[in-house]
Amino acid sequence: MPKTGSCLCGAVKYTVKSEITHAGACHCGMCRKWSGGIYIGIAVPGDGMEIEGSENVTTFASSEWAERGFCGKCGSNIYYRVTAPGPYQGTYHIGMGTLDDTDGVTVTEEIFTDLKPEGYAFDGNLKGMTEAEVMAMFAQAGEGQ
Ligand SMILES: [Zn+2]
Ligand SMILES: [Zn+2]
Repeated sequence: MPKTGSCLCGAVKYTVKSEITHAGACHCGMCRKWSGGIYIGIAVPGDGMEIEGSENVTTFASSEWAERGFCGKCGSNIYYRVTAPGPYQGTYHIGMGTLDDTDGVTVTEEIFTDLKPEGYAFDGNLKGMTEAEVMAMFAQAGEGQ
């Protein structure tokens, strides 16, 4: 069944057409500032997202390779999206917290683990990657993070 989600005020709603089962947490400084905590994203291919009220989405180009979309009315962080050319271009990483129903979606990995503040941690045995490991992976794919 397709998952739906929205921002806090409901001006932006979306439907994920592809199946989603796992999510990844990012501890990088940009995600930390942007989300106000830990950004937990779920990868969705560009053509797997249907956004209703997209005129209410404000985007911020946080780097040369990605933009971040949020509701211009209530400020909810809705997605991180890769803009750089390459195999991941157009891929959304929707914020897990914006799903209407998170059942069946598990956080299975965390990245930029070496940048994680000491004051909190995920419970459980997640796959972890340091900043250097993440950068090496994206360099292999031919683009930045
Ligand atoms: Zn909103
Ligand atoms: Zn990040």
